Amino acid sequence: MIDLRSDTVTKPTPGMLNAMAEAEVGDDVFGEDPEVNRFQDEMAELFGMEAGLFAPSGTMSNQLCLHVLTGPGDEVIIDESGHVFNYESGAAAHLSSLQLRPLKGIRGKLTKNLIEPAIRPVNDWDPHTRVIAIENSTNKGGGACYSREELIEISNVAAKHNLAVHLDGARIWNAMVATDIEPVFFGSIADTISISFSKGLGAPVGSMMLSSAGYVKKARRIRKMWGGGMRQVGLLAAAARYAVNHNLQLLEEDHRRAKIFAEEISKNPSFSINPDWIETNIVLFDVVDRTVESVLKQFSENGIGMVPFGPKTIRATFHFQVTDEDLEKVVKVAGW
Ligand SMILES: *Cc1c(COP(=O)(O)O)cnc(C)c1O
Repeated sequence: MIDLRSDTVTKPTPGMLNAMAEAEVGDDVFGEDPEVNRFQDEMAELFGMEAGLFAPSGTMSNQLCLHVLTGPGDEVIIDESGHVFNYESGAAAHLSSLQLRPLKGIRGKLTKNLIEPAIRPVNDWDPHTRVIAIENSTNKGGGACYSREELIEISNVAAKHNLAVHLDGARIWNAMVATDIEPVFFGSIADTISISFSKGLGAPVGSMMLSSAGYVKKARRIRKMWGGGMRQVGLLAAAARYAVNHNLQLLEEDHRRAKIFAEEISKNPSFSINPDWIETNIVLFDVVDRTVESVLKQFSENGIGMVPFGPKTIRATFHFQVTDEDLEKVVKVAGW
Protein backbone atom coordinates (compact mmCIF):
# COMPACT_ATOMS: atom_id res chain seq x y z
CA MET A 1 0.00 0.00 0.00
CA ILE A 2 1.09 3.57 -0.68
CA ASP A 3 0.37 4.78 2.81
CA LEU A 4 -0.47 8.47 2.95
CA ARG A 5 -2.68 8.11 6.03
CA SER A 6 -0.02 9.60 8.28
CA ASP A 7 3.69 10.31 8.59
CA THR A 8 3.67 7.99 11.61
CA VAL A 9 3.51 4.83 9.48
CA THR A 10 7.20 4.68 8.55
CA LYS A 11 9.18 1.60 9.56
CA PRO A 12 12.74 1.65 10.90
CA THR A 13 15.41 1.41 8.21
CA PRO A 14 18.45 -0.91 8.46
CA GLY A 15 20.64 2.07 9.43
CA MET A 16 18.29 2.98 12.23
CA LEU A 17 18.11 -0.61 13.49
CA ASN A 18 21.87 -0.68 13.46
CA ALA A 19 22.04 2.49 15.55
CA MET A 20 19.64 0.87 18.03
CA ALA A 21 21.72 -2.28 18.21
CA GLU A 22 24.83 -0.25 18.96
CA ALA A 23 23.24 1.94 21.67
CA GLU A 24 24.93 1.95 25.04
CA VAL A 25 22.05 1.73 27.49
CA GLY A 26 21.30 1.86 31.22
CA ASP A 27 18.31 2.32 33.52
CA ASP A 28 16.83 5.69 32.63
CA VAL A 29 14.57 5.77 35.70
CA PHE A 30 17.86 5.98 37.62
CA GLY A 31 19.03 8.59 35.08
CA GLU A 32 21.71 6.12 33.99
CA ASP A 33 21.05 5.66 30.29
CA PRO A 34 23.99 7.32 28.51
CA GLU A 35 22.25 7.30 25.13
CA VAL A 36 19.17 9.06 26.53
CA ASN A 37 21.23 11.55 28.54
CA ARG A 38 23.34 12.46 25.55
CA PHE A 39 20.33 12.82 23.28
CA GLN A 40 18.37 14.95 25.77
CA ASP A 41 21.38 17.26 26.13
CA GLU A 42 21.87 17.49 22.38
CA MET A 43 18.25 18.35 21.68
CA ALA A 44 18.13 20.91 24.50
CA GLU A 45 21.24 22.54 23.09
CA LEU A 46 19.88 22.47 19.55
CA PHE A 47 16.77 24.40 20.61
CA GLY A 48 18.56 26.62 23.09
CA MET A 49 16.73 25.19 26.09
CA GLU A 50 18.26 24.12 29.40
CA ALA A 51 17.04 20.54 29.48
CA GLY A 52 15.15 17.80 27.66
CA LEU A 53 13.03 14.86 28.76
CA PHE A 54 12.43 11.89 26.49
CA ALA A 55 8.79 10.77 26.47
CA PRO A 56 6.96 7.82 24.97
CA SER A 57 4.60 10.01 22.93
CA GLY A 58 3.89 13.53 21.78
CA THR A 59 0.70 13.42 23.78
CA MET A 60 2.55 12.73 27.01
CA SER A 61 5.16 15.32 26.20
CA ASN A 62 2.50 17.99 25.47
CA GLN A 63 0.66 17.11 28.65
CA LEU A 64 3.81 17.23 30.76
CA CYS A 65 4.53 20.70 29.44
CA LEU A 66 1.04 21.97 30.22
CA HIS A 67 1.11 20.32 33.62
CA VAL A 68 4.27 22.06 34.79
CA LEU A 69 3.14 25.45 33.47
CA THR A 70 -0.26 25.50 35.18
CA GLY A 71 -2.34 24.88 38.26
CA PRO A 72 -5.84 23.34 38.50
CA GLY A 73 -8.54 25.52 36.94
CA ASP A 74 -6.11 27.51 34.80
CA GLU A 75 -6.99 28.26 31.22
CA VAL A 76 -4.98 27.50 28.10
CA ILE A 77 -5.59 29.48 24.92
CA ILE A 78 -5.37 27.30 21.84
CA ASP A 79 -6.51 27.21 18.24
CA GLU A 80 -9.73 25.20 17.86
CA SER A 81 -7.97 22.77 15.53
CA GLY A 82 -5.10 22.16 17.98
CA HIS A 83 -3.95 18.62 18.71
CA VAL A 84 -4.12 19.21 22.47
CA PHE A 85 -7.77 20.21 22.08
CA ASN A 86 -8.88 17.56 19.57
CA TYR A 87 -6.73 14.47 19.74
CA GLU A 88 -5.48 13.95 23.29
CA SER A 89 -8.57 12.29 24.73
CA GLY A 90 -9.37 15.21 27.00
CA ALA A 91 -6.08 14.71 28.85
CA ALA A 92 -5.59 18.37 29.82
CA ALA A 93 -8.86 18.27 31.76
CA HIS A 94 -8.22 14.88 33.29
CA LEU A 95 -4.52 15.06 34.11
CA SER A 96 -4.11 18.73 34.97
CA SER A 97 -7.65 20.04 35.63
CA LEU A 98 -7.21 22.57 32.85
CA GLN A 99 -9.79 24.44 30.86
CA LEU A 100 -8.98 24.91 27.19
CA ARG A 101 -10.08 28.07 25.43
CA PRO A 102 -10.31 27.23 21.72
CA LEU A 103 -10.13 30.18 19.32
CA LYS A 104 -10.90 30.21 15.63
CA GLY A 105 -7.52 30.86 14.06
CA ILE A 106 -6.27 30.77 10.52
CA ARG A 107 -5.27 27.30 9.30
CA GLY A 108 -4.50 26.28 12.85
CA LYS A 109 -2.52 29.39 13.69
CA LEU A 110 -3.27 31.98 16.37
CA THR A 111 -2.50 35.67 16.04
CA LYS A 112 -1.88 38.44 18.53
CA ASN A 113 -5.24 40.00 17.60
CA LEU A 114 -7.10 36.78 18.33
CA ILE A 115 -5.27 36.07 21.56
CA GLU A 116 -5.35 39.42 23.29
CA PRO A 117 -9.14 39.80 23.67
CA ALA A 118 -9.35 36.21 24.99
CA ILE A 119 -7.04 36.89 27.94
CA ARG A 120 -9.11 37.03 31.12
CA PRO A 121 -9.08 39.86 33.61
CA VAL A 122 -7.89 38.98 37.09
CA ASN A 123 -10.90 38.36 39.31
CA ASP A 124 -11.79 35.70 41.87
CA TRP A 125 -14.38 34.39 39.42
CA ASP A 126 -12.27 34.33 36.29
CA PRO A 127 -10.16 31.34 35.34
CA HIS A 128 -6.51 32.36 35.20
CA THR A 129 -5.28 32.54 31.63
CA ARG A 130 -1.86 30.90 31.96
CA VAL A 131 -0.67 29.49 28.65
CA ILE A 132 -0.82 30.22 24.94
CA ALA A 133 -0.50 26.84 23.22
CA ILE A 134 0.51 26.93 19.58
CA GLU A 135 1.30 24.23 17.05
CA ASN A 136 4.02 24.41 14.38
CA SER A 137 3.58 23.08 11.81
CA THR A 138 -0.15 22.68 12.22
CA ASN A 139 -1.76 19.29 11.70
CA LYS A 140 -5.47 19.99 11.28
CA GLY A 141 -4.42 23.36 9.83
CA GLY A 142 -2.96 21.54 6.82
CA GLY A 143 0.74 21.81 7.65
CA ALA A 144 0.79 25.62 7.85
CA CYS A 145 3.83 27.21 9.51
CA TYR A 146 4.25 30.33 11.62
CA SER A 147 6.56 33.04 10.32
CA ARG A 148 9.25 34.46 12.56
CA GLU A 149 7.27 37.71 12.88
CA GLU A 150 4.08 35.91 13.92
CA LEU A 151 5.96 34.00 16.60
CA ILE A 152 7.61 37.14 17.95
CA GLU A 153 4.18 38.80 18.22
CA ILE A 154 2.80 35.87 20.17
CA SER A 155 5.82 35.82 22.42
CA ASN A 156 5.40 39.56 23.05
CA VAL A 157 1.69 39.19 23.93
CA ALA A 158 2.61 36.42 26.33
CA ALA A 159 5.30 38.52 27.99
CA LYS A 160 3.00 41.53 28.26
CA HIS A 161 0.32 39.51 30.07
CA ASN A 162 2.65 37.25 32.01
CA LEU A 163 1.59 34.10 30.15
CA ALA A 164 3.66 31.10 29.17
CA VAL A 165 4.01 29.89 25.58
CA HIS A 166 3.83 26.18 24.86
CA LEU A 167 4.88 25.07 21.39
CA ASP A 168 3.57 21.73 20.16
CA GLY A 169 6.37 20.97 17.76
CA ALA A 170 5.39 17.45 16.78
CA ARG A 171 6.33 18.61 13.27
CA ILE A 172 8.73 21.39 14.18
CA TRP A 173 11.25 19.73 11.85
CA ASN A 174 8.94 20.29 8.90
CA ALA A 175 8.47 23.91 9.96
CA MET A 176 12.25 24.37 10.27
CA VAL A 177 12.83 23.02 6.78
CA ALA A 178 9.93 24.96 5.22
CA THR A 179 10.67 28.34 6.82
CA ASP A 180 14.42 28.20 7.40
CA ILE A 181 13.90 29.26 11.00
CA GLU A 182 16.71 27.95 13.18
CA PRO A 183 15.79 25.77 16.17
CA VAL A 184 17.23 28.16 18.79
CA PHE A 185 14.70 30.74 17.65
CA PHE A 186 11.84 28.43 18.63
CA GLY A 187 13.53 27.99 22.00
CA SER A 188 13.64 31.76 22.39
CA ILE A 189 9.87 32.28 21.96
CA ALA A 190 8.60 29.31 24.00
CA ASP A 191 8.70 28.27 27.65
CA THR A 192 8.10 24.65 26.77
CA ILE A 193 8.42 22.78 23.48
CA SER A 194 7.32 19.28 22.63
CA ILE A 195 9.18 17.75 19.70
CA SER A 196 8.51 14.40 18.07
CA PHE A 197 10.73 11.88 16.34
CA SER A 198 8.03 9.46 15.24
CA LYS A 199 6.32 11.65 12.66
CA GLY A 200 8.15 12.57 9.46
CA LEU A 201 11.57 11.84 10.95
CA GLY A 202 10.65 8.18 10.99
CA ALA A 203 11.65 6.90 14.44
CA PRO A 204 9.36 4.13 15.69
CA VAL A 205 8.69 5.83 19.04
CA GLY A 206 9.59 8.96 20.92
CA SER A 207 9.01 12.60 21.70
CA MET A 208 10.78 15.06 23.93
CA MET A 209 9.86 17.92 26.20
CA LEU A 210 12.29 20.83 26.16
CA SER A 211 12.27 23.55 28.81
CA SER A 212 14.10 25.04 31.76
CA ALA A 213 15.98 22.72 34.12
CA GLY A 214 13.40 23.42 36.82
CA TYR A 215 10.37 22.54 34.69
CA VAL A 216 12.05 19.42 33.35
CA LYS A 217 12.90 18.26 36.87
CA LYS A 218 9.27 18.69 37.85
CA ALA A 219 8.09 16.92 34.68
CA ARG A 220 10.41 13.98 35.34
CA ARG A 221 8.50 13.11 38.48
CA ILE A 222 5.14 13.55 36.76
CA ARG A 223 6.29 11.39 33.85
CA LYS A 224 7.02 8.62 36.36
CA MET A 225 3.63 9.13 37.99
CA TRP A 226 1.89 8.81 34.62
CA GLY A 227 3.74 5.60 33.85
CA GLY A 228 6.17 7.07 31.36
CA GLY A 229 9.41 6.27 33.20
CA MET A 230 11.21 3.77 30.97
CA ARG A 231 14.26 1.63 31.63
CA GLN A 232 16.83 0.84 28.86
CA VAL A 233 15.12 3.36 26.64
CA GLY A 234 18.39 4.36 25.01
CA LEU A 235 17.36 1.85 22.34
CA LEU A 236 14.60 4.24 21.34
CA ALA A 237 16.67 7.36 21.89
CA ALA A 238 19.25 5.89 19.50
CA ALA A 239 16.57 5.45 16.83
CA ALA A 240 15.33 9.00 17.40
CA ARG A 241 18.86 10.40 17.31
CA TYR A 242 19.53 8.54 14.09
CA ALA A 243 16.30 10.02 12.67
CA VAL A 244 17.40 13.58 13.47
CA ASN A 245 20.86 13.03 12.00
CA HIS A 246 19.80 11.20 8.83
CA ASN A 247 16.16 11.84 8.02
CA LEU A 248 15.78 15.55 8.71
CA GLN A 249 17.33 16.27 5.32
CA LEU A 250 14.69 14.11 3.63
CA LEU A 251 11.77 16.30 4.70
CA GLU A 252 12.32 18.77 1.89
CA GLU A 253 11.54 15.98 -0.57
CA ASP A 254 8.30 15.18 1.27
CA HIS A 255 7.30 18.84 0.96
CA ARG A 256 8.13 18.85 -2.73
CA ARG A 257 6.00 15.75 -3.32
CA ALA A 258 3.11 17.13 -1.26
CA LYS A 259 3.14 20.28 -3.37
CA ILE A 260 3.14 18.37 -6.65
CA PHE A 261 0.27 16.22 -5.42
CA ALA A 262 -1.70 19.31 -4.41
CA GLU A 263 -1.09 21.00 -7.76
CA GLU A 264 -2.12 17.88 -9.66
CA ILE A 265 -5.35 17.24 -7.78
CA SER A 266 -6.31 20.91 -8.03
CA LYS A 267 -6.81 20.20 -11.77
CA ASN A 268 -9.57 17.70 -11.00
CA PRO A 269 -12.90 19.52 -10.53
CA SER A 270 -14.00 16.82 -8.07
CA PHE A 271 -11.55 18.28 -5.56
CA SER A 272 -11.19 21.68 -4.01
CA ILE A 273 -7.76 22.77 -2.82
CA ASN A 274 -5.53 25.82 -2.88
CA PRO A 275 -2.05 24.47 -3.70
CA ASP A 276 -0.49 27.71 -2.45
CA TRP A 277 -1.42 26.65 1.06
CA ILE A 278 0.78 23.58 0.96
CA GLU A 279 3.90 24.48 2.92
CA THR A 280 4.99 21.14 4.32
CA ASN A 281 4.11 17.43 4.05
CA ILE A 282 0.40 17.57 4.82
CA VAL A 283 -2.22 18.02 2.12
CA LEU A 284 -5.83 18.69 3.09
CA PHE A 285 -8.33 18.76 0.27
CA ASP A 286 -12.11 18.88 0.01
CA VAL A 287 -14.34 16.70 -2.11
CA VAL A 288 -16.88 18.61 -4.15
CA ASP A 289 -19.35 16.28 -5.85
CA ARG A 290 -18.79 12.97 -4.04
CA THR A 291 -18.68 11.69 -0.51
CA VAL A 292 -15.40 11.42 1.39
CA GLU A 293 -16.11 7.70 1.89
CA SER A 294 -16.46 6.94 -1.81
CA VAL A 295 -13.30 8.86 -2.70
CA LEU A 296 -11.31 7.12 0.06
CA LYS A 297 -12.66 3.79 -1.16
CA GLN A 298 -11.55 4.50 -4.71
CA PHE A 299 -8.05 5.36 -3.50
CA SER A 300 -7.98 2.32 -1.27
CA GLU A 301 -9.03 -0.01 -4.12
CA ASN A 302 -5.99 1.30 -5.96
CA GLY A 303 -3.69 0.56 -3.04
CA ILE A 304 -3.55 4.11 -1.68
CA GLY A 305 -4.33 4.99 1.94
CA MET A 306 -5.61 8.42 3.06
CA VAL A 307 -7.77 9.46 6.00
CA PRO A 308 -11.00 11.44 6.43
CA PHE A 309 -10.34 14.79 8.10
CA GLY A 310 -13.79 16.37 8.28
CA PRO A 311 -17.19 15.95 6.62
CA LYS A 312 -15.82 17.03 3.22
CA THR A 313 -12.08 16.85 3.86
CA ILE A 314 -9.40 14.24 3.21
CA ARG A 315 -5.81 14.28 4.48
CA ALA A 316 -2.82 12.93 2.58
CA THR A 317 0.51 13.01 4.41
CA PHE A 318 3.87 12.55 2.76
CA HIS A 319 6.86 10.88 4.38
CA PHE A 320 10.21 9.51 3.26
CA GLN A 321 8.85 6.04 2.56
CA VAL A 322 6.68 7.45 -0.23
CA THR A 323 8.77 7.63 -3.41
CA ASP A 324 8.47 9.65 -6.62
CA GLU A 325 7.17 6.50 -8.28
CA ASP A 326 4.45 6.24 -5.61
CA LEU A 327 3.58 9.88 -6.14
CA GLU A 328 3.20 9.31 -9.87
CA LYS A 329 0.78 6.48 -9.23
CA VAL A 330 -1.24 8.52 -6.72
CA VAL A 331 -1.48 11.44 -9.14
CA LYS A 332 -2.66 9.11 -11.89
CA VAL A 333 -5.35 7.59 -9.70
CA ALA A 334 -6.45 11.03 -8.48
CA GLY A 335 -6.86 12.29 -12.03
CA TRP A 336 -10.00 10.24 -12.83
C1 LIG B 1 0.92 13.42 16.45
C2 LIG B 1 0.82 14.73 17.13
C3 LIG B 1 0.93 14.82 18.52
C4 LIG B 1 0.96 13.62 19.44
O1 LIG B 1 1.92 12.69 19.22
P1 LIG B 1 1.68 11.16 19.63
O2 LIG B 1 3.07 10.64 19.67
O3 LIG B 1 0.84 10.56 18.55
O4 LIG B 1 1.03 11.12 20.97
C5 LIG B 1 0.90 16.07 19.08
N1 LIG B 1 0.76 17.18 18.33
C6 LIG B 1 0.65 17.13 16.99
C7 LIG B 1 0.52 18.41 16.23
C8 LIG B 1 0.66 15.91 16.34
O5 LIG B 1 0.52 15.87 15.02
